Amino acid sequence: MIVQKYGGTSVGSAARIRRVCRRIAASVKRGDKVVVVVSAMGHTTDRLIALAQSVNAEPPARELDMLVANGETITAPLVAMCLQGMGVPALSLSGLQAGVRTSAHHSKARIRDIKPDRILEALRAGQVPVVAGFQGVTEDLEVTTLGRGGSDTTAVALAAALKADACEIFTDVDGIYTADPRVVPKARKLTHIRYDEMLELAAVGARVMHPRAVEIGEVYGVPIHVRSSFHDGVGTMIVAQVPMEERQRVRGIAQETNVAKITVLGVQDKPGVAAAIFEPLGKAGISVDVIVQNVGRSGHTDLTFSVAQTDLKAAEKLVKTAAKTVGGRVSSAGGIAKLSIVGTGMLGMPGIAGRMFRALADARINIKMISTSEIRITCLMSKDQVEKGVRVLHKTFDLDRD
Ligand code: ADP
Ligand code: ASP
Ligand code: MG
Repeated sequence: MIVQKYGGTSVGSAARIRRVCRRIAASVKRGDKVVVVVSAMGHTTDRLIALAQSVNAEPPARELDMLVANGETITAPLVAMCLQGMGVPALSLSGLQAGVRTSAHHSKARIRDIKPDRILEALRAGQVPVVAGFQGVTEDLEVTTLGRGGSDTTAVALAAALKADACEIFTDVDGIYTADPRVVPKARKLTHIRYDEMLELAAVGARVMHPRAVEIGEVYGVPIHVRSSFHDGVGTMIVAQVPMEERQRVRGIAQETNVAKITVLGVQDKPGVAAAIFEPLGKAGISVDVIVQNVGRSGHTDLTFSVAQTDLKAAEKLVKTAAKTVGGRVSSAGGIAKLSIVGTGMLGMPGIAGRMFRALADARINIKMISTSEIRITCLMSKDQVEKGVRVLHKTFDLDRD
């Protein structure tokens, strides 16, 4: 059994839907049991969000989810009816019908569990289930969405719930590259990448895979094959271990431009202050990223951290409320980007950070903040410099195609 997920560009028009369906029909013909997950067509999700903002600058999260979930709800029946027209029995299912149950955090809900009864029923009846990705429901049957790019997560979570043999992510690039091929023309396609490396890359902006999808794939051991929906060639396998000779110190580079920073100047330097500031953000489902706290002086300190630009307004409001009790002046800035290098081969390799900072300095790029994990180094910089930074580092770490 395989789960095949088709992304927005791949189902962006009637002609493309027909092409995708020919591909699904071929898999069915080979004898595979296929479960299909689809995204919204083309830029539908962006358009729906813009439409919402044109009637309310800050659309209420519940209503926004009710609206944007419809992108996927449209694609699923189109694919199912196209398949039926080709003589392949198929059944479209919404997230609710497919049994996708989530937390109640609108626009960033997490899948709690999947009760795939209707999917299994359809498979038994010889039908191809076509599931609307990105959407789920809470216990109270409120419609939720999983965050931008979340159809990947629907697909991998379904593959885990169904104990499928693999999950295929069909997209508009040939696989996972050493950097976004739209930014670095010399980027190379990887034949394999480890879950932990892909997770770090996805978490810092490589939008080719949704981070939660990679996480679920790793936990449940779902092999993920990222490949082109336009041709048959093999793509990139996301796996637990890559062949030894393919180990590279830096495996990939990613950039993210949906970044803003919040600074709290002059907060009291005592236990409980950071908790008072960050707890409300956590409760609201807002992820905080790079955090920098200065060395305290005369009982006070400064705290700076980054959030997604799209969370900035909500985050600023919460931080200002917290600052009323713990003190401090709150300010914020957008126009920032994150640039990250990732690779398990960096573990225990001295000198990588120095090389990164030197290369950025030579390119006259100023680093605003730095954060690291064992297999990643991230620098924050001005947004208009990040693409140059990616290209410079791609060369510095010998990732360019020869
Ligand atoms: P889909 O609609 O199929 O989900 P996405 O737009 O979400 O497609 O993801 C595919 C895009 O991810 C590519 O078109 C590419 O520009 C971008 N991308 C970013 N980083 C990478 C990378 N390292 N490798 C491949 N693609 C990448
Ligand atoms: N349609 C949603 C988005 O554009 C989900 C997805 O494509 O995976 O973010
Ligand atoms: Mg995507």
